[in-house]
Amino acid sequence: MTSLATRLKSEIARDGPMAVDVFMARCLTDPQDGYYTRQTALGANGDFITAPEISQIFGELIGIWALATWQALGAPAHLRLVELGPGRGTLMQDVLRVFRGARARKTAPAKLEVVLVELDGAMRARQAATLRGTSGDASGDASDDAGVTLLWTDSLSKLRHDGTAVTIVLANEFFDALPVAQYVMSERQWCQRVVALGRDGELAFAIGQPVAAAMPGMAAASAAGVGDGQVFESRHSVIVATSGPVRAFADIASQCPAALLVIDYGDTCASGVRTGETLQAVAAHRFADVFEAPGMHDLSAHVDFSELTSALSDAGVATRPTLSQAEFLAALGLEARLATLIAGKDAATANALQVDASRLVAEPGMGDRFRVLCACSQGIAVPYPFA
Ligand code: SAH
Repeated sequence: MTSLATRLKSEIARDGPMAVDVFMARCLTDPQDGYYTRQTALGANGDFITAPEISQIFGELIGIWALATWQALGAPAHLRLVELGPGRGTLMQDVLRVFRGARARKTAPAKLEVVLVELDGAMRARQAATLRGTSGDASGDASDDAGVTLLWTDSLSKLRHDGTAVTIVLANEFFDALPVAQYVMSERQWCQRVVALGRDGELAFAIGQPVAAAMPGMAAASAAGVGDGQVFESRHSVIVATSGPVRAFADIASQCPAALLVIDYGDTCASGVRTGETLQAVAAHRFADVFEAPGMHDLSAHVDFSELTSALSDAGVATRPTLSQAEFLAALGLEARLATLIAGKDAATANALQVDASRLVAEPGMGDRFRVLCACSQGIAVPYPFA
């Protein structure tokens, strides 16, 4: 049993059942035993692999997107580029390669302030090592000779407002790691789903109190006649909280021209009725039971893009329909970038590059399971290719 499991059980025995979102937050970000405090999580040898870890083309195309968006916003001298949940820093490393190349051609901002939003100290050190290529010192520093400054913060809401900067915020596989609340239909009422102790004293799901306030989307699910035991998931409270990412981005977007790019797995719920449980544990690239090893396995749940889009638009931000990852990467020139990378390489290397790039846009696969959402300040041109 993990030490986090032992602590959670005694807390539940003492204080009563724990809401699912609280349980998920504890498993991922408990300061002592949270999953992300272990640095081995990501990558081919970790529990799961993300798009930037598969192919450098992913981050490079996002770099091109960010550069084109900055140009479309009038190419001001100062750009603030923010990443939520940067993992090992691989995505930002590939993005910065594009900006350095553009700088050599004098088509990049003179001052590039890179802000990494990361809770965990060990992850910050990992990101610093990737981005500085040296020791893991994650304190801020002066700009390097390419005009790049690296800064860390633990919440988007803590960004100070800088009247002049254009802000671009990137989030790949960040929202799926935010705690999800679950509700369960019981005798025609939505009740909170909680983590309790089963008869055997082990962690188990249970039905908690009826919910006082309906979450957006619940009414449609109720109207569609969902039966007892059906689960409804929502991150609404987490994302719209005062310090949550939606409110924080809306604040920034009202103060300076800003764009947000969210890439994650999930769906748009075209039917308008959202039910079904997607909370999952992953260890060593395989699904596991969510209670098997709290703090040792990754927990994540689908991102509900309709919920995120509505929350952003309710907060006053402009949104456009999402694109699939395959559509987004194709529009940004995946094939052309691949051809450039392959040119002059031996057959084995060229084949490996081709296989990795294909994985990003495979359908069925990452190409259609992952979606891309763009939101931006009202009144600015909607970034390509969302317009
Ligand atoms: N974007 C990366 C890694 C995704 S893993 C990639 O594509 O490879 C999720 C990342 O979000 C980790 O860096 C984790 O430590 C961080 N994280 C998780 N919850 C967070 C929160 N609430 N606030 C800030 N960072 C968080």
